[in-house]
Amino acid sequence: MTHNLTDRQKAEWLDIVIERDEGYSCWYCKKPFSLSQNNFAEYSGRISPHLFDHLNNNRRDNRIDNVVLCCESCNNKKPHDSDMQILATDKLHDSEKRDYMREKFTKKARNSENSEVQISKTNYQICLQYVAKKVDQFGQIDFKETILNIVWKCRENNNTGSPQATRNYLNIICCISAPFEITKIDGKKIIRRRVKSTNNNLDHT
Ligand SMILES: [Zn+2]
Repeated sequence: MTHNLTDRQKAEWLDIVIERDEGYSCWYCKKPFSLSQNNFAEYSGRISPHLFDHLNNNRRDNRIDNVVLCCESCNNKKPHDSDMQILATDKLHDSEKRDYMREKFTKKARNSENSEVQISKTNYQICLQYVAKKVDQFGQIDFKETILNIVWKCRENNNTGSPQATRNYLNIICCISAPFEITKIDGKKIIRRRVKSTNNNLDHT
């Protein structure tokens, strides 16, 4: 449903339009509006000297991009002035283009956030699969070597992967609820299947 601009909309938009168009003035003739109460008669009974002009002349197209401040004389002139029409059309297209670009940039930022999450998921899976496979193959694997091998695999897969991130994944994969554990054997940090113990605290070999 479209309506004519409401007074409330006009009030809310006034500041935004003034800031966007850099001044409280007529967008067409650039004449600043006077706020003096003495001019009340000049405003045809309105409280304020400005009018809201719809750039594309469609009074129901109430996007803020389609609205500029306008003095009474320009408002009367515009319907018969092709130069003003062209200016107005250009202004609207400009705003629309800027809006389109803004949307595009926001989307791009959102996509790169998504892909970061995706990469982190992928690298976690690479880490988990590596540990499961190697531990079942060798019984236990060297912690430091595991980190380097996983970083290698992640970088081969998607050009990301840091030792720090891998260390974090390994800590998760080897947490108390997980099927693997990090422990020390002969002073060497290793990863193995979690040893079932009635008392986990005693399980430090
Ligand atoms: Zn004007």
